[in-house]
Amino acid sequence: MESNRRSFLKVSGICALGLGALPVADALAKAALPNFLANPKELAGKKWAMVVDMKKCWEKSEKGCHDCINACHVFHNVPDIGTVKEEVKWIWQEHYENTFPGQTNEFNVENIKDKPFMNLCNHCTNPPCVRVCPTKATFKRADGIVMMDYHRCIGCRFCMAGCPYGSRSFNFRDPRPYIKTELNPTFPTRERGVVEKCNFCAERLAEGLMPSCVESCKNGALAFGDLEDPKSTVRKLLASHYTIVRKPELGTGPNVYYII
Ligand code: SF4
Repeated sequence: MESNRRSFLKVSGICALGLGALPVADALAKAALPNFLANPKELAGKKWAMVVDMKKCWEKSEKGCHDCINACHVFHNVPDIGTVKEEVKWIWQEHYENTFPGQTNEFNVENIKDKPFMNLCNHCTNPPCVRVCPTKATFKRADGIVMMDYHRCIGCRFCMAGCPYGSRSFNFRDPRPYIKTELNPTFPTRERGVVEKCNFCAERLAEGLMPSCVESCKNGALAFGDLEDPKSTVRKLLASHYTIVRKPELGTGPNVYYII
């Protein structure tokens, strides 16, 4: 309580001196509220990112394994609609030429062009999906995670048109009857007319857990961590491996990196 009082007095002092243009409420939110709200178990990061080591992904099978897809889709109650047109997906496989168009040529991808690559939302640094959403149903958190508020989504699908990675799915029908696995009561199901996508397991990070895809991968092909932390696994992987991202020429700043 004493430290909270001190934080409040500090912020009040700054405002009184006129040193900051921030409104009091904003300053309080930045300076004092974390002391009240922080979950001691929560995994905190300044810029979350993922590194996908495709060589490890293919170790188990040339066709890639589905452990991460299954874990993610079960955890998030992702429906299995059964048609490509209405497919709902958070993490999925694509061929090289669809994952990295523009980075293909007929010579240097000979050994990888037919192999599957894991695709998911890139939690872009400059996400076009956020810019085009008219209701702010999709928004970017301070730690870089691009989130969806399903209750605000009006199903206009501007975000789907804005995303150059096909990372978003639309529920053309009520998805609930198509959830083929046991319902996870800790994660909300969605409704007809709502867009959804990967959320970097924000709800698990809040509980101190790694994303379900990362946790489920037995080959260590998926690494998740804070790009702003030089000691994080992702930073170490990026420092020691050549990596590529999807469609870098678009300037979206993808935060999912691939070791190929
Ligand atoms: Fe948005 Fe698509 Fe980037 Fe994800 S990959 S943040 S959905 S633009």
